[in-house]
Amino acid sequence: MNELLLDAARRGARYLDTVNDRSVAPHPDAIAVARAALAGPMPEEPLAPETVLADLDRWGSPATVATTGGRYFGFVIGGSLPATAAASVLAAAWDQNAGMESSSPLGAELERTCARWLVSLLGLQEGTEVGLVTGATMANFTGVAAGRHAVLAAHGWDVEAQGLFGAPPITLVVGDEVHVSLLKAVSMLGLGRDRVIRVPVDGQGRIRPEALPDIAGPTIVCLQAGNVNTGAFDPVGEICARLQGTGAWVHVDGAFGLWAAASPHTRHLAEGIALADSLGTDAHKWLNVPYDSGVVFVRESRHLVASMSATASYLVAGGRDPDLFTPEMSRRARGVELWAALVSLGRRGVADLVDRTCAHARRMAVALAAAGCEILNDVVLNQVLVSFGSPGRTRRVIAGIQQDGTCWCGGTTWQGRVAMRISVSSWATSDADVDRSLAAILRVAAATPAEAG
Ligand SMILES: *Cc1c(COP(=O)(O)O)cnc(C)c1O
Repeated sequence: MNELLLDAARRGARYLDTVNDRSVAPHPDAIAVARAALAGPMPEEPLAPETVLADLDRWGSPATVATTGGRYFGFVIGGSLPATAAASVLAAAWDQNAGMESSSPLGAELERTCARWLVSLLGLQEGTEVGLVTGATMANFTGVAAGRHAVLAAHGWDVEAQGLFGAPPITLVVGDEVHVSLLKAVSMLGLGRDRVIRVPVDGQGRIRPEALPDIAGPTIVCLQAGNVNTGAFDPVGEICARLQGTGAWVHVDGAFGLWAAASPHTRHLAEGIALADSLGTDAHKWLNVPYDSGVVFVRESRHLVASMSATASYLVAGGRDPDLFTPEMSRRARGVELWAALVSLGRRGVADLVDRTCAHARRMAVALAAAGCEILNDVVLNQVLVSFGSPGRTRRVIAGIQQDGTCWCGGTTWQGRVAMRISVSSWATSDADVDRSLAAILRVAAATPAEAG
């Protein structure tokens, strides 16, 4: 066992030591070879663990996307802080089931500690309850589930016991630039993604508060802290103030943007988040915790517990069972890597991570604008939207950058315009990575004619 785990650690270390020297996207041949080697029929006979590991490394490692390196700017994908990657090796050895206090007192303790630290770090209200889930989709699901409970309970309906058939209808309000995963959460909760009221937004994707509908009856309003394209924040404080006294539940999708609240330089963007009833975020994006790791916050604990708890005689409740706050029952001890991230960074380190990545994003935007590219958003956070002219040329430049392999950027359509997205979310991105990436982007753009053929 000793040799096997050391071998795994050595292979992992070698991977991380060289990940910045290879193409960010895997070569198509590497994917084809991995498929041929690893994806055949299930073997009849057992295989020695040493061989299993060697095969995974030999065929699998070259076929990975180098998202954990310093030059991956696609979607919103952070890397893994060194302490978190190492902690996850130990966590795998521990194999704790963090569903219950009794199955893992340590797992429950680390979660409790992370919960307390996060509420304070993000400036949320004391007593806010926390659940560790797989990602922001599930964090949004859980927050809106707590809201579904609360707004129906206020109308005398117990949704967990009675279901939705015959319940008073819930009005769900979202911004027009709502993230698709929030609509997925809404659909899974039986609230209907086509039933939502979409509120008009401004050019950065922020809800226009004056366009909010009049609130009557059970209502859940979903806001956004950090638009996935522009990084813009809905005016959460202003909207919460407007909704006061209406009984509406306010949920905030802060998948990555919520971490802005941890830095004095960006905190103003998240003004008012402490007034929200529930919030969802990811630890696996901007905090650079390994997958999968999301966090839900609910200001009044009872609504979260009412929507998530289950009881059975053999599930002896003791202390703070983590499964009172999440959809999952059995699950891995997500608090291990989260704790490792928060301890290894400290408050100052989290703020610095946010500031540094935002500064990289600003520098990319300034350099690209100086070279004649059009920047489509106000770069207030770590997101940059770039146009290289016509939709066709922008698409060809994006494809060229992905193929070049120096860095990786994805595409999007922002309010009708085709754009390249740059999301600087990794702790590992250095000034040199920004320089190399800028040079590659401009080299590919220069080699891409305005119109094909
Ligand atoms: C990434 C993202 C999500 C979904 O998060 P997952 O961790 O992929 O489930 C939701 N909302 C926003 C704004 C995001 O950026």
